Amino acid sequence: MAAQIIDGKAVSAKVKEEVRQEIEREGLEVGLAVVIVGDDPASRVYVNNKKKACEVCGIKSFEYALPAETTEEELLALVDTLNADKNVNGILVQLPLPKHLNEEKVIERISPMKDVDAFHAANVGKIMIGNYAFLPCTPAGCMELIHSAGIDVSGKECVVIGRSNIVGKPMAMLLLHENGTVTVCHSRTKDLKEVCRRADILVAAVGRAGFVTADMVKDGAVVIDVGINRNAEGKLCGDVCFDEVAEKASYITPVPGGVGPMTIAMLMKNTVMAKRIQSE
Ligand code: NAD
Repeated sequence: MAAQIIDGKAVSAKVKEEVRQEIEREGLEVGLAVVIVGDDPASRVYVNNKKKACEVCGIKSFEYALPAETTEEELLALVDTLNADKNVNGILVQLPLPKHLNEEKVIERISPMKDVDAFHAANVGKIMIGNYAFLPCTPAGCMELIHSAGIDVSGKECVVIGRSNIVGKPMAMLLLHENGTVTVCHSRTKDLKEVCRRADILVAAVGRAGFVTADMVKDGAVVIDVGINRNAEGKLCGDVCFDEVAEKASYITPVPGGVGPMTIAMLMKNTVMAKRIQSE
């Protein structure tokens, strides 16, 4: 039986519409500053998509496009200015930064109350505890997709492939908070296939096209594909061999049109949350 496709475009449109209505209903003035350093084409696409989402939701967006040779002092000074700016509720520094800039240092400089990506150590700590204001956007988007399909995580075997700070680790935490039995796999995992085959919910965040094949997937599993890759023909694709895995899974997210749009929708949600925190 072929899997049902979880439509990230539709779910993200719903989330953004809820954000738009909330802003309109309460007459909120919400602003998001997006900082991009250099001219990485993928980063440019993401930044443009974030700007478009702001327009849809009625959030003011302020873009700071800095040249690749920007120094760390200059970037930190901009972050300081944005931290102090009352019209800016959320600050997002698009990653990756050029190599001469220390990403950790820049992220730690953002006020935790404006850290809408939830990458600051203070916010990461809150996510660990389970008492958080900002949801990490990509994992939160994955959870929203799981919920949209009516799937209850409680007691399920959940396997996350990937242990990055921005996807794998927080994803594992969110599944754990919903009482999933969570295993995190990574490049040193032994018998990856066997571990993945146990999963009722399998989340792939590796960054390799065609990584998850049908023989790694249990019949009826829910498969969430976080990967964004280009295949040999240059086409956008995820980590999952979609066609063959869709034959076995009960639910699957496509790439494009799955997790990607959700990440941006959750960013909009976080920006409104930031406004609320700052108004308290
Ligand atoms: P990353 O490179 O930081 O982490 C990749 C992880 O995969 C690592 O933890 C590594 O241990 C694991 N891995 C690598 N090879 C492996 C192997 N052979 N077996 C098992 N695990 C292995 O990447 P990331 O930032 O977590 O992103 C992962 C993917 O998700 C990328 O394709 C990225 O573009 C995509 N992504 C998508 C969104 C979105 O909005 N949809 C957001 C962030 C990242």
